[in-house]
Amino acid sequence: MSILLEVKNLTKSYSQEKAADNISFALEEHTSTALIGPNGAGKTTTLSMLAGLVSPSNGTIAFHNNKTSDIREIIGFLPQYPKFFPWLSALEFTEMAARLSGVEAKKATLEARKTLEFVGLGDAMKKKTSAFSGGMKQRLGLAQAIVHKPKLLLLDEPVSALDPAGRRQVMNLLKELQAETTILYSTHILNDAEEMTDQLLFLRQGALVEHGSLEDVRTRYAKPRILIEFEKLEDIQRFKALTPWELTVTGRTIAIDIVAEKVEMPAVLAILYKEGFLIRKVERQTASLEEIFMEVAVIQS
Ligand code: ATP
Repeated sequence: MSILLEVKNLTKSYSQEKAADNISFALEEHTSTALIGPNGAGKTTTLSMLAGLVSPSNGTIAFHNNKTSDIREIIGFLPQYPKFFPWLSALEFTEMAARLSGVEAKKATLEARKTLEFVGLGDAMKKKTSAFSGGMKQRLGLAQAIVHKPKLLLLDEPVSALDPAGRRQVMNLLKELQAETTILYSTHILNDAEEMTDQLLFLRQGALVEHGSLEDVRTRYAKPRILIEFEKLEDIQRFKALTPWELTVTGRTIAIDIVAEKVEMPAVLAILYKEGFLIRKVERQTASLEEIFMEVAVIQS
């Protein structure tokens, strides 16, 4: 695979703070990358610099094999809060976006129609955007970002305004689009990142604090553990007295850190069986993406 975009030491300083602080990463063609971080981590600032809307204070953004001088022809951008002219229909708006991104007049209407069908607005393309719901606006925002078939698609929280069914549909559309383009999107919704991502970039206070494939990050932060939920609360003390392990207790459930305690399931099951404990559930678990997010991206107070 070849590299489409390379970002080096990208920094944006405002008077008081660095909204983006020395960020470096690369995007390979036809991959999807999730930019993850809490509010204020610098996701919008980073995407806006890549889209050419905010000028960096420092650092470089290099598109490989790019022959166009107008960045709008190779980039599609869906802002966090897309705005539309309320007096235009979805078709007129998408046609206008196509023309502004270099699509010939002859082709613009056809491409706009095809794109609106693709995002699920086929029946609403003649409606004025003032009559659109939040979810329809998000789809229209996606349509204007992809109508010119950009090489790089930048999406700032593309599914935040959608209900669970809409979210699933749009994530599926994005998966389809990956065959034609390269996607960088920001999200708070970690399940979405889990569903579609080749690379995760975790931002915290403007800095890139962790990156890698989902599998890499999972392995690094897996924290494998055994959870036991007891039927009787008093059994927790009895179990504690019988075992040498450090236990974390939450209600009726205890957690044993597999790596720190050098223990595996058979040893735990043997004790539970031999001592006749009544248990509701025993399971081996690893950290969820949610927990990894809390550990990597959120500063613990
Ligand atoms: P959210 O998830 O809330 O959208 P974010 O990760 O997209 O947050 P940014 O919007 O990039 O974060 O903001 C990063 C930091 O930069 C914030 O502290 C924000 O207040 C600051 N910032 C962003 N734009 C400006 C600006 N134009 N002037 C001053 N500070 C700014």
